[in-house]
Amino acid sequence: MPETLNHGKSESASGQNSARVSIVRADDYDLPRLVPAIQRSIELIGGLETIIKPGDRVFVKINHLPPPSPPERGIVTHPVFVEAVLELLKKAGAEITVGDEIETAPVDGFSTSGFRQMCQRAGVRLINLREEGFVARECHGLLLKEVYLSRAALEADVIVNLPKLKTHSLTVLTGGIKNMYGTIPGSLRRRLHGEYPDSEDFSRMLTDIFSVIRPHLTLMDGIVAMEGEGPAAGSVRKLGVILASRDAVAVDAVAAGIIGMDPMDIATTRYAHERVLGVGNPNRIEVVGENIKSVATSDFRLPVSAKRAFLRKIPAPLSRFAVGQLTVRPKVVEQQCTACAECVRACPTGAITIHDKSAGVTGVASIDRAICIECMCCHEVCRFNAIVTGRTLMGSAVSLAADAMKKLLGY
Ligand code: SF4
Ligand code: SF4
Repeated sequence: MPETLNHGKSESASGQNSARVSIVRADDYDLPRLVPAIQRSIELIGGLETIIKPGDRVFVKINHLPPPSPPERGIVTHPVFVEAVLELLKKAGAEITVGDEIETAPVDGFSTSGFRQMCQRAGVRLINLREEGFVARECHGLLLKEVYLSRAALEADVIVNLPKLKTHSLTVLTGGIKNMYGTIPGSLRRRLHGEYPDSEDFSRMLTDIFSVIRPHLTLMDGIVAMEGEGPAAGSVRKLGVILASRDAVAVDAVAAGIIGMDPMDIATTRYAHERVLGVGNPNRIEVVGENIKSVATSDFRLPVSAKRAFLRKIPAPLSRFAVGQLTVRPKVVEQQCTACAECVRACPTGAITIHDKSAGVTGVASIDRAICIECMCCHEVCRFNAIVTGRTLMGSAVSLAADAMKKLLGY
């Protein structure tokens, strides 16, 4: 008997506007074990043949952040997870392209993460999205009227979305909805970060993009997840799960349940559900495969943005003050900064400059707090780990107070 995410509350999960999500356990990234596990996750939602026909052009959207990082750090979708998916897609007769947009110079990020070697092994085309360019598309969004999208993704018959289960310091969770943000050009991403620094606006904008490019199948790599201040500064956390659905919104909702959150407290899920871009309401999600209670965690370390979602529920003047304090700020570790200026190029507000370190010999990045919007783009691109994240003393105090309130209210 399938269960619903709300642990069996009364409403039917199979009525109109419903979705099915499968949960399958997988202990590690061992290819021979992973292929049947992913196959089962897809069979539980109807089978690959209901999504892909032989000869279909399939675009596989991986989750690959700019600074080169090995898969063990939990920042990118694990290449062996993707390799297992590719094996199934090839059997289904798909013509496959794997891609994301990343910086390639001076270090090839696809090689550091192992994607280049894996795709060569699998005999599958791997592209940096900028190689094939972007196409303008009208967008009847809440905030956007036009958006540029990857030509490779748009021209595919089927989009397979492979997000990593990770926290996010702005949006709480970076999952199936946010992974589609990676189909727009990096320069536009930077601009939009600057235009929509507030997490609610940023999430509205993400659902605008999702409204014009929706995947046909979402498979989430939750075998080793990231907790804390993701998407790059958190720590790895083994969850041992694969989530599969035709509905990316429902995948995010189930992922939220697994890490101990109400899906409707995640703004991207809430807005996508309200706009009928997918199903985020737990009562309407049929969960098949593993019992959600058996894979859920109660001690998953959530990012500060999760506390913001909670604090927005308290009376306005107080919540405004508290939310304002709860920011995570970037800080430059001068000893590690090589003055490469990648962060300068990534910063949407021009808040970073390279200053002389001492005696004018080497430079060092310096952040102008007055115009920093705490988007963490600099942290995401720095491959020397020279930008760390931290809170103010007041922010730490508010964070502790929010934890105490949540406990008191049984939230
Ligand atoms: S902080 Fe990082 S990205 Fe910025 S200049 Fe220094 S090393 Fe380069
Ligand atoms: S300094 Fe970093 S966190 Fe601040 S606005 Fe620039 S990129 Fe974003």
